[in-house]
Amino acid sequence: MRVLEPLIELRRGLWTTLRSMFEKQVTTQYPEHKRPVKARFRGLHVLKRYDNGLEKCIGCALCAAACPADAIFVEASENSAEVRYSPGDRYASTYEINLLRCIYCGFCEDACPTEAIVLGDQYELTFTNRRAAIYTKDMFIEPVPAAGKPTPQKTGPGMFTRSVPEMKDPSD
Ligand code: SF4
Ligand code: SF4
Repeated sequence: MRVLEPLIELRRGLWTTLRSMFEKQVTTQYPEHKRPVKARFRGLHVLKRYDNGLEKCIGCALCAAACPADAIFVEASENSAEVRYSPGDRYASTYEINLLRCIYCGFCEDACPTEAIVLGDQYELTFTNRRAAIYTKDMFIEPVPAAGKPTPQKTGPGMFTRSVPEMKDPSD
């Protein structure tokens, strides 16, 4: 009887292989096919814009203060009516995130008074050296909306003097 044992095990193994050939595939052929991320997934940051193209970030650096990993560096500069990047007095002329430090906790998102910084669904982040892991503003700012204009904009005196402009729906 012991002589037949290997043959029985072999048949069992072949049967398992044969059966799995007709089962629904569970392997995703990444990167050709990508599975959608969950609604609360936290990936690469996105700096948001208003519909008119102005940047939501006002350079206050509250996100940098809230970051437990010291991953964010913000430097602010003055807006003017002639050269305006965001509503209010100031905008982020430098905004950098060190993705080797970031732990994707979302504290920066929570701290932002204008809902300018959000964690998006981009997870394909690779770098070959430490310098390349520092993402600059142009690498994660949202594209200009179809109805908007790129920054800097010429807006005229007295317009957009509030850091958070009047909005029909502030949750937009
Ligand atoms: S997600 Fe967390 S660790 Fe990453 S930059 Fe924001 S606050 Fe810092
Ligand atoms: S992203 Fe928000 S918290 Fe950070 S500097 Fe800009 S406005 Fe301030």
